[in-house]
Amino acid sequence: IKISKSYKLASRDFHPEDTVISIGDVKIGGGELVVMGGPCAVESPEQIDEIARLVKAAGGQVLRGGAFKPRTGPYSFQGVGVEGLVMMAEAGKKHGLLTITEVMTPEYVDVCAEYADILQVGTRNMQNFDLLRKLGTCNKPVLLKRGFSATYDEFLNAAEYILAGGNPNVMLCERGIRTFETYTRNTLDLSAIPVLQGLSHLPVISDPSHGTGRRELVEPMTKASVAAGADGLIIEMHTDPDNSMTGDGVQSLFPDQFATLLQDLEKLAPLV
Ligand code: PEP
Ligand code: MN
Repeated sequence: IKISKSYKLASRDFHPEDTVISIGDVKIGGGELVVMGGPCAVESPEQIDEIARLVKAAGGQVLRGGAFKPRTGPYSFQGVGVEGLVMMAEAGKKHGLLTITEVMTPEYVDVCAEYADILQVGTRNMQNFDLLRKLGTCNKPVLLKRGFSATYDEFLNAAEYILAGGNPNVMLCERGIRTFETYTRNTLDLSAIPVLQGLSHLPVISDPSHGTGRRELVEPMTKASVAAGADGLIIEMHTDPDNSMTGDGVQSLFPDQFATLLQDLEKLAPLV
């Protein structure tokens, strides 16, 4: 069936070949699998340094960690801010990892772009159009997370804002949507992976951590994402999840689980 599309630059009709985003030696999209791992939030220099070491040792390519955290309540830990960007940049450089961090407002795009290799737009900001427009003028790749109630069409139109602003390096991230089910934090929409790859040429990354909210489901949903054709994964891992500063310890893998999972993935798909 032919559906009318309001987006253009994001569409595979417009751009038939897969977009491949090259950052240093790492290629995202076009058949190789990239793994981004790390804590929900950057907490201290020691924490991010140790986790970076473990991500690298396990075979990951990108260190994740939020310096600015979009918390549901205003009294929850909001992230360590700009200092966290500095801590993460140092850990990434020391251990030979690229870095990804969330940017929440247009005003902070420049400083985040100064310190991080990839900028993340969180689910709550997928339709923050001022932020998307600003990211369109930025020279760093963007990982755009799907809004937890967004349709594919809304998701691809959000990507279109960034592309239309002149930034071609956008990856799409399925991180779970809100459904009637409450056992899991979100419902990871695995169909999104092949659907988005059909509609669009942009790389598709899966987030089984936020997609399930439960540590024990991260491994099977990571493997399912790879089987469904994901171009990459973003996975939360923490050295002391029970004492992590956000509530996301419950969905964070222990370092040994993360390492075992990446070993298993090598059998499913070659890592970058
Ligand atoms: C995160 O990656 O830590 C995060 C806040 O993700 P999301 O925007 O998908 O909830
Ligand atoms: Mn998180």
